[in-house]
Amino acid sequence: MAQERVALVTGGTRGIGAAISKGLQAKGYKVAANYGGNDEAANAFKAETGIPVFKFDVGDMASCEEGIRKIEAEVGPIDILVNNAGITRDGAFHKMTFEKWQAVIRTNLDSMFTCTRPLIEGMRNRGFGRIILISSINGQKGQAGQTNYSAAKAGVIGFAKALAQESASKGVTVNVIAPGYIATEMVMAVPEDIRNKIIATIPTGRLGEAEEIARAVEYLAADDSGFITGSTLTINGGQYFT
Ligand code: NDP
Repeated sequence: MAQERVALVTGGTRGIGAAISKGLQAKGYKVAANYGGNDEAANAFKAETGIPVFKFDVGDMASCEEGIRKIEAEVGPIDILVNNAGITRDGAFHKMTFEKWQAVIRTNLDSMFTCTRPLIEGMRNRGFGRIILISSINGQKGQAGQTNYSAAKAGVIGFAKALAQESASKGVTVNVIAPGYIATEMVMAVPEDIRNKIIATIPTGRLGEAEEIARAVEYLAADDSGFITGSTLTINGGQYFT
């Protein structure tokens, strides 16, 4: 029953993650929200929602192990994991520093290992789990200026396909949501002229809302969504790519 299930949302205090945390809470899940460093936003989110927040770096194995142990002790064994935390460090590849490359790979791709590995054995042993990974349209089609981000987000899709096959017989599903451009701080940080050019390429003529991603997470998290695994759900306002 959803009422008894515990969900961890990484990067769950701002942007898309905050909408996911709130959406799952509204559906009756016990939610824990992770964040990386913005205490002010996390505290405001906690005050608004009553959802407990847990600060740890999703790129660091030891921090994730400790953070997840704490969540499982305080909130309960995690049934639903939403690997949502992510960053961008854009730049043309021929000018890109290795630091920018590594920062994006560790937060967006290493986090698939660091946040999933400590809790998947529990899911397998209990015979139920929902792992939902937030990729991106730019991992599907590639994006100039985002070789690091496109590589990490494409990696997320490969990870999901492999883990889905390993986990299916244990009642653990693994799915990806690939959002297009959503109105969060990440996208609002893109210069307005470039943002307007992006919006012009979206058939719906607008950016997506974080709540529109949250709705899909709720669908994939549900107890009766057990036949959906290894899939990638694109939510991008009709942007076409090959
Ligand atoms: P935001 O920048 O608005 O929020 C990012 C969240 O991730 C924050 O809660 C942040 O914590 C957390 N975070 C960042 N780094 C770490 C870290 N090392 N450890 C723990 N938490 C961390 O991002 P969005 O809501 O826009 O994006 C959410 C996800 O959706 C990302 O994976 C992104 O790549 C993906 N996405 C976004 C799209 C968009 O259009 N916005 C499009 C496609 C995909 P803190 O507040 O402490 O910084």
